[in-house]
Amino acid sequence: MLLDTFGRQAVDLRVSLTDRCNLRCTYCMPEEGLQWLGKSDLLTDEEIVRLVTLAVHDLGMREVRFTGGEPLLRPGLVSIVAACAQLAPRPELSLTTNGIGLARTAKALREAGLDRVNVSLDTLDPETFHTLTRRSRHQDVLDGLAAAESAGLLPVKLNAVLMRGVNDHEAADLLGWCLERGYQLRFIEQMPLDAQHGWDRSQMITAEEILERLRTRFDLTPETTAERGAAPAERWLVDGGPGSVGVIASVTRPFCRACDRTRLTADGQVRNCLFATGETDLRTALRSGASDAELAALWRAAMWGKKAGAGIDDPEFHQPDRPMSAIGG
Ligand code: SAM
Ligand code: SF4
Repeated sequence: MLLDTFGRQAVDLRVSLTDRCNLRCTYCMPEEGLQWLGKSDLLTDEEIVRLVTLAVHDLGMREVRFTGGEPLLRPGLVSIVAACAQLAPRPELSLTTNGIGLARTAKALREAGLDRVNVSLDTLDPETFHTLTRRSRHQDVLDGLAAAESAGLLPVKLNAVLMRGVNDHEAADLLGWCLERGYQLRFIEQMPLDAQHGWDRSQMITAEEILERLRTRFDLTPETTAERGAAPAERWLVDGGPGSVGVIASVTRPFCRACDRTRLTADGQVRNCLFATGETDLRTALRSGASDAELAALWRAAMWGKKAGAGIDDPEFHQPDRPMSAIGG
């Protein structure tokens, strides 16, 4: 098991497959992109499968989510998913993606054993999409969503970040659009994880504001904490259900107490929190011939050092060196 000193058990593994991306979301990375990891720094497909295997067999992972950067840019994605789907016990397999290219790969991913996708879409308007992502790919995302649905990657989930003065007026429209299609929408509070350090607490749209905007059109009833479990999103039934909406309030209402995650970066570093300032290097150990037992021991020690909380709203908070796109969101 992967335990920490606060009694939490990690069962949910986030694996970043690349730090590269074909969008440039303003809250994530600068226009010019970043200094990408070199090929030899990246774990190979075989190395990823070995680490996921030991995480499932020896460390008790029940869920594996592939992310990035943009995971659909990883050429070996389908075969990595297929290998992970062969594991026993079989973990739940999901993908967090911007949806570009999903129209082409959704079916192959489903056949390889992927269970679900979370597609990030912040706006229904192609121009606002360009303002937010600096690319004209809105239709590709819509096509990707439709393909995910017809491939049976269900339920289709959507992630949205609201930026003041850009798309915050669209909260209720996005929810209405998702309810019509049976997509599950979650809003994520903007976090201080952008490479350009542009996050400003006074400018972010808080969970309270998101709910206020939604309540102008919908009746929201909170789900109980018991129903929430370890999920970071607080959920509300919309107009009495069955539709619902989630809000991940990592800044204003963090849920670190119930966190059940562990993270593996594309260059083989274990992180015990998105906001951790340290990492544990599994890649060097792995390439120096470490056994599964030795790698598992390193991973356990990394999680044992997990802090009680991320403390984003604390005055002494320090943003981690790596941006979200290089950690794996
Ligand atoms: N490229 C994929 C995508 O966009 O879904 C996967 C990686 S992305 C880093 C994962 C999620 O993090 C996306 O839903 C994105 O909106 C969210 N994200 C990125 N930067 C963020 C920030 N500064 N605050 C909150 N969420 C952020
Ligand atoms: Fe790319 Fe996802 Fe970051 Fe947008 S949020 S720039 S899609 S990694």
